[in-house]
Amino acid sequence: MAGMRQGPAPIRVLALRTMTERPLVRSTVRTYIAVGANLGDAQAHVHAALHALETVGSVQAVSHLYRTAPHEAIGPDYVNAVACVDTAHNAVTLLRHLQALEAAAGRQRSTVNAPRTLDLDVLLFGRASVWSPTLTIPHPRMWTRAFVLYPLRDVAPHLVGDAHLAQVAGQPITQL
Ligand code: ADP
Ligand code: MG
Repeated sequence: MAGMRQGPAPIRVLALRTMTERPLVRSTVRTYIAVGANLGDAQAHVHAALHALETVGSVQAVSHLYRTAPHEAIGPDYVNAVACVDTAHNAVTLLRHLQALEAAAGRQRSTVNAPRTLDLDVLLFGRASVWSPTLTIPHPRMWTRAFVLYPLRDVAPHLVGDAHLAQVAGQPITQL
């Protein structure tokens, strides 16, 4: 009968559906996230943050906790750790989620390097290089900070060699 479609759907309709369907498997990127705190019960804040990172991806490994004196900063000693997380977020969205976790932990943004209840920094995001006003990856100061390199070596020994640690030998750090 005139006007009635016969047979299978036109190929262009099938192609459109294929393009708009969500993929069954979302690819993930391996990221390393630095966790730090030096206000309130800093150790508890770091433990809570390491658990909260499950909301941004699949946590593959967490480092030991470390205590360090403030580096280029003031205030009480810091507690630091690093987590390895496989995430489906892109780097910008990941940072937004991390900042929400900081805010939920009571983080106040006052001055640069001010004491904080929680600091979450993206150290590495796969092999990505990002350079924008709000996000730089790899984190520009990660290789000069003992409080990053020691915990990073726990979860990624292939990334941190003895030569890296020698560069930060003057920065006292204690494993908790
Ligand atoms: P810091 O961690 O350097 O002590 P903040 O936590 O206050 O300082 O972050 C300051 C700004 O640094 C954030 O608003 C964020 O946009 C920016 N930033 C740039 N690169 C990164 C990164 N790799 N991880 C986290 N924050 C970053
Ligand atoms: Mg930060």
